[in-house]
Amino acid sequence: MLTDAELMRYNRQILMPQWDIAAQEKIRAARVLIVGMGGLGCPVSLYLASAGVGELWLADFDTVEESNLQRQVLFREEDIGCPKAEAAARQLAKVNPHVTLKPLVRALDADSLPALLADVDLVLDCTDNFSTRDAVNRACVMAGKPLVSAAAIGMSGQLSVFHGQGDRPCYRCLYPEGDAGSATCSESGVLATVVGVMGTLQAHEALKCLSGVGVPLFGKLVVWEGESSMWRTLAFRRDPACSVCGNPEVSKS
Ligand SMILES: [Zn+2]
Repeated sequence: MLTDAELMRYNRQILMPQWDIAAQEKIRAARVLIVGMGGLGCPVSLYLASAGVGELWLADFDTVEESNLQRQVLFREEDIGCPKAEAAARQLAKVNPHVTLKPLVRALDADSLPALLADVDLVLDCTDNFSTRDAVNRACVMAGKPLVSAAAIGMSGQLSVFHGQGDRPCYRCLYPEGDAGSATCSESGVLATVVGVMGTLQAHEALKCLSGVGVPLFGKLVVWEGESSMWRTLAFRRDPACSVCGNPEVSKS
C-alpha cells in the first residue's frame, strides 16, 4: 500500500487516465538493475527514482572524471574521483527517499550476472561496449528478464526492448554478428543531449514494462537522428537460429 506521502508525491502520475494506484504500486514493488552509470545510466536512474521504482541497483566499476560532467548529469564537481555507483546513489537518495538504492562498484560479467539477475525484474543496459552488452543479453535471456537497451553516439541514438522469449527477440537476434566493430563515445564523441534523450526513453520503456501500461518496444528498433531530429522505427523478428535465444538444432541445420 502506498503511504499518504507517496500518494501525494506521485499524484501527477496517478491522475493520468492510463496510470492508477495499481500501476504505481507495481513499480514500487519492482527491483531493477542498471548496468553502467554513465551518460545513459544517469537520466535512467534519475527518472526511475523520481517516478517511484522501488529498488534500483546501480552497477559501475568506474570513478567520476571531469570529462564525464559534460553529459553525466547526476554528478557534481565534488564527485570527481568517487565511484560513480556511490556518487549516483547519494544524489538519487536526495531526489526520492522512498526508493531503495544499492550501489554495486564492480564490473559485471558472465560469471557474476546470473546471480544478480535472479533477484531483479528488469535490466537496463546503459553500457557502451559490445562485450558487456552481449553478456548482459545472454544473462537476461537465461533468466527470462526483459532488457531495455539504448546506445548513443555523436548526434544519434538507438533504443529497443529485448527478451528472447515467445515472439520477442533478443539483442543477438538483431545483431547476429555482433557490433564489436562499432565505435564508442570515448572514441567518437557524443553530444550531451543525445544521451539525455535516449536515457529518458529507456526509463520510459522500463516504466511501461514494470507497470503493464502501454506497449513496450519488443521487436522494434527506434533510431533517432539528432542532426535532423527525425525518428525511424524498424521492426525485426526473433531469429529461430539465434546463437543466444534460438534453438541450437535450428542453427546446426
Ligand atoms: Zn536471440
